Amino acid sequence: MPERTALRKRVALIAHDQKKDAMVAWARQHAGMLRLHELVATGTTGGRVADAVPDLQVRRLKSGPLGGDQQVGALMAEGRIDAVIFFVDPLAPMPHDVDVKALTRLALVYDVPLALNPATADCLAATVLAGT
Ligand code: PGA
Repeated sequence: MPERTALRKRVALIAHDQKKDAMVAWARQHAGMLRLHELVATGTTGGRVADAVPDLQVRRLKSGPLGGDQQVGALMAEGRIDAVIFFVDPLAPMPHDVDVKALTRLALVYDVPLALNPATADCLAATVLAGT
């Protein structure tokens, strides 16, 4: 694991099923920036991103519906996440909706930058994650 520096952020990646292609496209587009940071992801999202950009090191947690969102929330509560990229599907009911709400709530509680769509994720890529 490379040394932690002030520029190296801990970034969580999560995408609902209908948004996973968008996450893969975003990760490809921002691969150079993402390489600077420590990445953690819910299980399926992490697998998709790692397959698409093989040189990215992604620590995979449990799948979201099996507790992965709660794991990301716990990391935020411990001050171990600096930004969350969470591509939410607004059109499908989720069995783990309460976990999704809890995760977004904790981002508010701890004032963690949270991007819920690619447009906002681009803003984070250009600012807090820019590595400059
Ligand atoms: P997944 O979880 O990456 O394991 O699909 C994401 C989610 O649905 O919260």
